[in-house]
Order: sequence, then structure tokens, then C-alpha cells
Amino acid sequence: MRALVVRGRGETPAVEDVRLPAPGPGELRVRIRAAGICHSDLAMVDGTLAPAYPLVLGHEATGVVAEAGPGTTLAVGTPVVLNWAPACRECWHCRHGEPWLCAANPNPSTPRGETAAGEPLQVTLGLGALAEEVVVPQHAAVPVPAGLPPEQAAVLGCAVLTGVGAVRNTARVAPGESVAVIGLGGVGLAVLTAARRAGAAPILAVDVVEAKRELALAAGATDFLRSDDRLGKEIRVRTDGRGVDHAFECVGRSATIRAAWRATRRGGAVTVVGMGGKDDMLSLSALDIFHSARTLRSSVYGSTDPDREVPELAEALAAGDLDLGPLVSGTVPLAEAPAALERLARGEGARWVVTFPD
Ligand SMILES: [Zn+2]
Ligand SMILES: [Zn+2]
Repeated sequence: MRALVVRGRGETPAVEDVRLPAPGPGELRVRIRAAGICHSDLAMVDGTLAPAYPLVLGHEATGVVAEAGPGTTLAVGTPVVLNWAPACRECWHCRHGEPWLCAANPNPSTPRGETAAGEPLQVTLGLGALAEEVVVPQHAAVPVPAGLPPEQAAVLGCAVLTGVGAVRNTARVAPGESVAVIGLGGVGLAVLTAARRAGAAPILAVDVVEAKRELALAAGATDFLRSDDRLGKEIRVRTDGRGVDHAFECVGRSATIRAAWRATRRGGAVTVVGMGGKDDMLSLSALDIFHSARTLRSSVYGSTDPDREVPELAEALAAGDLDLGPLVSGTVPLAEAPAALERLARGEGARWVVTFPD
């Protein structure tokens, strides 16, 4: 089968023929219908996440069970959304209601299958979903209703869970609270959508790229602001001089975390959703931390339990209650995935989704 493979740090990904093993006990073979391209895929290519290579990219997808290994309970033909952090249900975090911090979370890359030349192959986060097929443990496949728009169901598993969870589970945004969202990729737009569903107001969307304005307003923002020196002032003007109740940082850089900190009112909360680099240091004064009385915390995978929340979001999508249209910039065939990765790296659009013929 064909998959999007990166051969080494900083190399250009290309579509290759690869071989996966047959599903073993407790495993499923899933035929992919649609797979999103996430910023973390760029972090796999540039080596930030330090995976092993050659590596199949992709960790956000929907598909259909094509073959069920011994001991599995999902029937062939079941539509599923993939989960890149399946909970073991046995470790300390799982037993204490924090399955998103499961100690058994997969490494950036996991060995699975081989290249056409017989070299050992790695897959991203135990999935490798930018491929015609994946072989995964059953608990990495969450059953969903049939008939969902594949390009919207695909983004449920990473961008939407992360963004919606950050608002609902981590920050617990209440109706009438003010929100700022910094960085409007797929996750940032999902945060806007969730903030609107939570009844937040105003919802201030912030990005360096003016072209994100229309996307932001379509996703749920009440206002779009350019990220520049005047940002703090512009935000205070819209919040009676206080700053927002909640700022969401969806970039993963110290500079934008600091901007989120400054955008927040005394006693407000900064939620860091973006994943940054280990050498990018953030400096805050001890007096500022005390006097501002702000909370700074991160949201890992939306502080969510995908087994519960993916089906919920899928039902909302099926009922027309959740519109993920603004998140999906377009669909491309697998052959055009390398070009879509480049567009993502340039900040063009939100989510590009690779779709596969039936
Ligand atoms: Zn992702
Ligand atoms: Zn666990």
C-alpha cells in the first residue's frame, strides 16, 4: 500500500510503497478514508519531536475496519476515528481520571512494517495515518456513526479534540466569559468554534496573517486582531480595560505564550495548547506571577478521554450541530500531500485533508 514517508530529518516527504504486517491479536487493519495534515507532522519532518526514520507521517484520520485480528470486538466495515493517545486504563493517570496523560502514550514513532526495499519502517504515534491503511491496536480506533463527511470526521481525532477539549475540559469556559485565541491553525480554529459553543463573548482571534480574518470569523470569532505591538492595548479596549478571562495559545512559542499572558486579566487563565521546543525559554518576573494572580497551564490532547468525547463530537457532527467546514481548507489526493505540507508550513489555510477513493 502507499503511504507518505519521510526518510530522515529535514528531508522532503514522498509517497512510497510500504508493507504492513497483518493485524495480530487485539489489532485492526483500518482502510483510511481521510487524514488531516497537522503541525505536528511538520515537527516530525524537521526532527523537533525526534522520531526514528523512515517514518510514515499522519496521526489524525477516519477510516473503516478492513480486517479484525483475533480477540477484537469491532466488526469489519465499522467506521472509526483514530486516537493517537489510547489510554491503557491501568496506569496511575488512567486510574485517576487523566487518561490524556496515560503513561503508555505512544512514542513519536513506533516500528511497524517495512519499506518496499525491506527496511524497518516507523509509524507516527503508533498510527502513521497518511497512508491507504494502518494496523493499530483496537483501543486506538474509536467507532463513530456511518455517513459523516470524511474530511470533517478526519480532524476530530487531533485538531478538534485538542481545541474543543482545551475550552471545555481544561479552561472550562463559562457563558459570557471573554476569550482570546492566539494562532489560527486547525487547533486555533477549533478553539474558536468551541468558545462560541460555550457562549463566550467577546471571542478575539489573533494571528500574524491577515488572511486568517475570514476563517476566524467563520469559525466563531467576534473580532480579528493582528498580532503586533498594539495587541495588548487592542485587547484591553475590547474588555473594559481588564484583558480577557481566558487566553489560548495555539502556536507553541514563548513569544506567543507571553502575548497570551499579557492579554489576560488579573486572575484570568492562560491555556497553552501549542507544543513548543525544549530550548524556547519563557521568562516571567516573580512579582508579575504574584501580582497578576493569573493561572498558566497546558492542555495536553484537550484534557480529554477520546473514547467518550470522539463519539459525542461525531454525534454533534452527524446532527449538524457542529460545523467543522471552516477548519478544512481543502482536500487533496495522497500524491499532493507533500505540496499540502508545504502550504501548511507557509501558514496557508487551516487544515488540509488527504482523501482516499472508496
Ligand atoms: Zn496533530
Ligand atoms: Zn494509562
